[in-house]
Amino acid sequence: MTTTVHAFGAREAGAPFEPVTVERRDVGPHDVKLDIEFCGICHSDIHFADGDFGPLPISPLVPGHEIVGVVTEVGDAVRKHRVGDRVGIGCMVNSCRECENCLQGEEQYCLKGHTLVFGNIDRDRSVTQGGYSEMIVANEDFVVRVPDVLDPASAAPLLCAGITVYAPLKRWGAGPGKRVAVVGLGGLGHMGVKMAKAMGADVTVLSRSESKRQDALDLGADAYYASGDTATFQTLANTFDIVLNTVSAPIDINAHLGLLRLRGTLANVGVSTEPMPLNAFALMNNERTIAGSQFAGIRETQEMLDFCAEHDVTAQVEVVAGDQINDAVARVLSSDVRYRFVIDASTLAESTPAH
Ligand code: NAP
Ligand code: ZN
Ligand code: ZN
Repeated sequence: MTTTVHAFGAREAGAPFEPVTVERRDVGPHDVKLDIEFCGICHSDIHFADGDFGPLPISPLVPGHEIVGVVTEVGDAVRKHRVGDRVGIGCMVNSCRECENCLQGEEQYCLKGHTLVFGNIDRDRSVTQGGYSEMIVANEDFVVRVPDVLDPASAAPLLCAGITVYAPLKRWGAGPGKRVAVVGLGGLGHMGVKMAKAMGADVTVLSRSESKRQDALDLGADAYYASGDTATFQTLANTFDIVLNTVSAPIDINAHLGLLRLRGTLANVGVSTEPMPLNAFALMNNERTIAGSQFAGIRETQEMLDFCAEHDVTAQVEVVAGDQINDAVARVLSSDVRYRFVIDASTLAESTPAH
């Protein structure tokens, strides 16, 4: 038995999102069912739906991995969540739970492959469908608590954008006395500014033009430079402990490495499907590090949500209805997101095709 729910999905790579339905499984002993309230639109959803990562694994593909909702049913064996709880689901809904990475709580690096919340084949062979939908059923271990003090719409983007910047900032020591540069002021970038400030670091934004200067300062940044101005890379040479790259396109890695002071780290979370050439001297100088990071494990995701509750950190969001998703996607693609679109799932049933 399954339940049919309203959703928005793409029928082909690059096609507009349109109203569709998806089937949700019945609640198993370890499952939690949630009525989705809000789901963020991450640039990764767009990469997937546009076919940047390969052909669509299922049609229609329903993306969405920044999910906040309320629990409406739990399986008999569920211990972590109760009916009525506000909870979240991020990028993953399963992993093997027994490899050395899973055992360390780093399920995102499961050696047998994590299961993404959408567009992946789950352990039961079904293909997962994501949060641009009204309801979802998931294993309790991949569902996190959303603290009551957080506004649910503004908290949704924490489930990907928030954790994706929190993990490398923490890993590389963002804190008092440390200088962090956030490259690219979009969904991840604006969370990077807020998280690094909440951790106590001094934060500089590098955006392509001057257009986001006031926004960056309003978000809490201490300084702002246009990366399109070549003087910027001279002025800021050998300055930062951490350069956090959140750009959804190739960047000049060598120029950005040059911004790092002694033993600084370029933490890369932005996804470019093009290779980025590396000049060995840019890396060797100042004993620099380049590091990657992919969202985070469930334990750290919960830690991040609790940190955000304590430090009053949420995303700056624009809430949209289902029939506004295509306009929102167009604005993300033109870097006109200020600074995360979030879908109001209560509108999905009534939304009409957007053509
Ligand atoms: P976004 O909201 O679109 O922000 C990306 C920002 O990158 C833009 O606002 C823009 O900032 C800059 N940018 C875009 N195109 C550019 C270009 N051609 N050259 C230079 N700068 C450009 O996207 P997002 O949702 O924050 O996601 C950012 C990237 O992170 C995406 O590639 C996404 O797939 C990836 N991601 C990775 C993880 C992970 O686990 N590692 C998780 C989530 C997302 P300015 O206007 O300030 O220049
Ligand atoms: Zn994401
Ligand atoms: Zn594993």
